[in-house]
Amino acid sequence: MILKPLNEEEFYKAFAIDLARAQALVLIQSPYLRLRRLQKLRGTLAACIRRRVRICVFVRSPEDDPDFELDFAPDFAPDLQPPSVDEIMEAARVLLALGAHVTFRPSKHEKVAVVDENILWDGSLNVMSQNQSSERMTRFWSREMVYQAIEMHRLDCCETCLKRRLPLETEAESEKDLFKTIGSAIENRRKSLKLTQAELARKMGVSQSVMSNIESGKRNAGMKYFLLACCELRLHLRVSPWYLAPSLSDWDLDIAKAEKQELLNQERELAEQELERASAPRTKSLLLLNSPPTKHDRKTNTIHNL
Ligand SMILES: [Zn+2]
Repeated sequence: MILKPLNEEEFYKAFAIDLARAQALVLIQSPYLRLRRLQKLRGTLAACIRRRVRICVFVRSPEDDPDFELDFAPDFAPDLQPPSVDEIMEAARVLLALGAHVTFRPSKHEKVAVVDENILWDGSLNVMSQNQSSERMTRFWSREMVYQAIEMHRLDCCETCLKRRLPLETEAESEKDLFKTIGSAIENRRKSLKLTQAELARKMGVSQSVMSNIESGKRNAGMKYFLLACCELRLHLRVSPWYLAPSLSDWDLDIAKAEKQELLNQERELAEQELERASAPRTKSLLLLNSPPTKHDRKTNTIHNL
């Protein structure tokens, strides 16, 4: 079968359909980033992330790279200017704010994109920066080619994913870590639902000591009780190929972080209300600490100068 390469317009239309159908993973190696292109892709990428599709973007690091500008413009379009370092960094911030992962690495000039396990795009187009140039991209439907591309371009080395992946030193270690991870996810979820250990144990029909063993990740608590606790707390355990789900808990980690921040905010608000109710002079001096220095303060060398 002969595959027809698509031009830039055809590619973005077809790629948008692939992104809309993506189920778990999108890997994009786009050596350059450009805000204008990102603006056009933003809605589709955000929709993927809302569906919990992981997006890892690999970008060529502009630092210490003498060929960074030279490699950008093809021979037939020498006037094309590469995006500035500031623009690339701003675009990376936009991607991170969307929830995508961004990895900078030296001199990677090949352009590829992978969607789930079967779709590989390969060609000349910088997916995240193409602007005026004429490019070609070919779509391959092949699990084997996807695996080859991941290996060849080291697309399994996303910095964020690697940080979140469970440390798998030995089989025994990995099993221990697995139960610990599930146990701490159960504990975090229980706390975020404001349930005590005893309350959850009662709901599950087990003793509190079993509940304590589960949250400590003790394997001898019994797998069925781990699953029961997950079920009771509406937690999903997913089993996927490793590169589709490098961490059992990345989603839960994000939720836990957001919930922890929310709790901290609530605690801070309560503390501030308590302080307001406290004595007036004390409140005044504390407020002074947080307000900008006044003329009077500067003159009298007050607490701001300490
Ligand atoms: Zn990643």
